[in-house]
Amino acid sequence: MAGLACAHRLAVAGLSPTVFEKSRGIGGRLATRQVSNRIVFDHGAQYFTVRKPQFTTFVEALIGAGSAAVWSPRSAGSADGDDWIVGREGMNGLLAPIAHDLDIRFGATIDGIQRRSAGWVLSADGDQQFADIVVSTIPVEQVRHLLAEEQSVQNAIADVKTAPCWALLISFEKYLECEFDVRRTETGVISWIARNSSKPGRQCRYDCWVAHANPGWSAENLELSREKAADLMLAEFRKSFKVDLPMVNSVSAHRWRYAKTLVPLGRTHAGNADGSLFVGGDWTLGGRVEYAFESGNAIAEAILASNLQPYPPAVPR
Ligand SMILES: Cc1cc2nc3c(=O)[nH]c(=O)nc-3n(C[C@H](O)[C@H](O)[C@H](O)COP(=O)(O)OP(=O)(O)OC[C@H]3O[C@@H](n4cnc5c(N)ncnc54)[C@H](O)[C@@H]3O)c2cc1C
Repeated sequence: MAGLACAHRLAVAGLSPTVFEKSRGIGGRLATRQVSNRIVFDHGAQYFTVRKPQFTTFVEALIGAGSAAVWSPRSAGSADGDDWIVGREGMNGLLAPIAHDLDIRFGATIDGIQRRSAGWVLSADGDQQFADIVVSTIPVEQVRHLLAEEQSVQNAIADVKTAPCWALLISFEKYLECEFDVRRTETGVISWIARNSSKPGRQCRYDCWVAHANPGWSAENLELSREKAADLMLAEFRKSFKVDLPMVNSVSAHRWRYAKTLVPLGRTHAGNADGSLFVGGDWTLGGRVEYAFESGNAIAEAILASNLQPYPPAVPR
């Protein structure tokens, strides 16, 4: 969200940003795993809310373009289910309308960011790319590693803390009869349960559910194998229901190392003194999709307001 929000704003202003994304698709933690064409899980962000006018306008455009929709699940516990927005066919498709017009290099893991007398050189698996201005919206832990020599950035982010999250992805042969589609709980290993197939636009043949473990349990059990984590979480998942579960069709677990923000930066971004390097992401303001948007958008505005305007990449594509 942060990276594409930034690139989109720059592109709308007439600039030509290039996005380097290590995965094969867009979304980041707006993530969807398709086990088969009828078994689909949003295993990262479950939904998001919209508070500020700029994000409202942005999300309304996505709803208009058909990639976002309101989700009103039946809730239990403290989950309320008001004004929840999701990707219409999957969280990872949410930003498809804006990604379409951007130059995104997929499968490009940036493993070096080196300062030059003018600008920067980015490295990805041995390939190099020149950039006037670099915006990084990767998790803060990776900023610590990748920009270790940028002291002003390191000082700014020193106190930021994030927490991991184990996610359970489970599908059933039959509909799980219960009185809720989502449940958030403050006690127990499982802090969130959602019937993924209750989201709009999902064409699930099987009843698909996602559960998240609480941050403490996730941290303590971070290095478990995925199989072991799935076993333990499934046992906890069963305890959340008064009824017997239908026959399990598929079960797996996903480890999010940098899932949620515990201590945010407290402002939309940090950077270096000459305005040629920016770091941002949800960890600047807190672990919400809207904060990721706000961070990326604010970085774009800072670039547009500066004298140091970026140009299209000097190296031919
Ligand atoms: C389990 C879970 C549940 C959540 N639930 C909610 C929720 O209900 N509501 C809500 O609002 N938010 C929720 N969030 C938080 C939400 O997902 C994030 O706030 C938001 O998606 C973060 O966006 P971002 O752009 O800052 O970071 P990310 O989505 O993490 O994007 C970073 C991108 O950088 C890429 N990348 C990383 N390193 C490199 C590299 N070296 N080179 C190239 N690319 C790289 C990654 O592949 C990724 O695409 C949840 C998150 C998790 C994990």
